[in-house]
Amino acid sequence: MELDDHAEDLASDLGVDKEEVKSDLQNLVEYSVPVDEAKQSLRRKYGDGSSGGGGTPSAKNVADITPDDGNVTVTGVVLTAGKRSIRYQGSEHVIVEGRLADETGAIDYTAWEDFGLSPGDTITAGNAGVREWDGEPELNLGESTALSFQDETPEIPYEIGGEAQLADLQTGDRAVTIEVTVVDCERRTIDGRDGETEILSGVFGDESGRLPFTNWDPAPEIEEGGSVRIENAYVQEFRGVPEVNVSEFSTVSRLEREIDVGADATTMDVGEAVRTGGVYDVELVGNVIAVRDGSGLIQRCPECYRVVQKGQCRTHGDVDGIDDLRVKAILDDGTGTVTVVLDDELTEDVYGGTLDDALDQAREAMDQEVVADTIREHIVGREYRVRGHLSVDEYGANLDAETFEESDDDPVARASAFLEEVDA
Ligand SMILES: [Zn+2]
Repeated sequence: MELDDHAEDLASDLGVDKEEVKSDLQNLVEYSVPVDEAKQSLRRKYGDGSSGGGGTPSAKNVADITPDDGNVTVTGVVLTAGKRSIRYQGSEHVIVEGRLADETGAIDYTAWEDFGLSPGDTITAGNAGVREWDGEPELNLGESTALSFQDETPEIPYEIGGEAQLADLQTGDRAVTIEVTVVDCERRTIDGRDGETEILSGVFGDESGRLPFTNWDPAPEIEEGGSVRIENAYVQEFRGVPEVNVSEFSTVSRLEREIDVGADATTMDVGEAVRTGGVYDVELVGNVIAVRDGSGLIQRCPECYRVVQKGQCRTHGDVDGIDDLRVKAILDDGTGTVTVVLDDELTEDVYGGTLDDALDQAREAMDQEVVADTIREHIVGREYRVRGHLSVDEYGANLDAETFEESDDDPVARASAFLEEVDA
C-alpha cells in the first residue's frame, strides 16, 4: 500500500482532511516510525472512536493476537526484559525488549517507556499497540499503555529468563543469557557515532557451537581463553550472519567452570542452510559443479584489497595489483547451491602448488587463466565436505571456507583414489 492509500484510508475513517493526515503520516514515516504504528498514533490524535480513542480494547489471549489488531489488552508473565539504546529522532533512547507469555503463547514486546519490567513479573498491559514484524505480531508498550503489575502468576509453559545455547540464537533475539568461552578476541578502534571508540570483537563458543560477537563497551572479563556468563545480550545480523551484541546494559561475569566448545559444526543441506539466511559455522556436503570467473591467479588492489580487473580498481583506478590466489566454486547437493570461497592457502591445496608455481605457469602459458583451468580439472565433478561461514545477502549465498576436503563417503572418489594408489 502506498502512503497515499494509507492517508485516504485514515482520512475516510476519521472524517478529516486527507492532505492533513498525509502530511502527518509522512512526517512520522520519515522518522522511521513503522507505518502501522504511525496510523495508530494518528487515530489517537484525531480521536477515532473505534480503537484507542478513549475506550480500552478488549482483553485477548496472547495466541489470539494478530498483526491486524490495532490495540489490545493483555495479561502475561515477562519472560525476558533487555535494555538497549537506540537512536530515534536524532537522540538516544533506552528501550526494553523481550518476550511476554500467558497460558496460550508468547509474544515479543518493545517498551518505549521505563515501566521497570523484570523477568518473572506478571503484568496487564492495557491498550498495548500491536505491530507486525517479519509477519508476526509484536506488542508496543508506550505512552498510551496502562501498565499494572499483578500478584497472581498464571501457569505458563515457558521458562522465565533468556538462557540459551549459541546454536539456538537467531537474529532478532533479545535479552539472552549465555555461558561461553571467548575463543577469539581482538580490540579495535572504530569511528562510532560519538567519534573514535574502542570495541572488542571475536568469537564465542559453547557446547553447541560458535558465534561472532561485538562488545560495544569493552568488559574486562571478556578476554581470549576466559569463560564468562553474559546476561542481557542481543542478536543482530552482521555481514549476513547472526552476531551476539554485548552492550553497556549487559552484565558480564567470570565463570569458574570450563566450557567445552563443540568441535562439530552443524551439518545441513545446502537449501536448508541458505534458507536460514546465514550461519556462522556450518558444514555442507556437495558436488563442485563449476569454478567461477575470478578464480585462480588474481590481482588485488594494494589500497583496499579488492580484486582488480585489468589493473583497474573500482575505487582507486589504475593500480599495481598484488598477486593472490583464490577459488570461487559452485557447490550443489541437489537441494540448492552456494558459492564456496577458498582463501590462498586452501587454493594452494586444490591447485597443488604455491603462488610462485602459479605465476610460473601463467608466464609460460602467457595467460593467467591456465591456473583457474588447472583448478577446474582438479575439483569440478568431485564431492566435497566444506565447513565455514555462510552469508546470504544481495550478492547471493557465499560460504567462506575454513576447511575444504574431498568427501570420503563418495564411492566414486573413493574408487578413483584407490585406482590412483594401484597405479602408483
Ligand atoms: Zn582499491
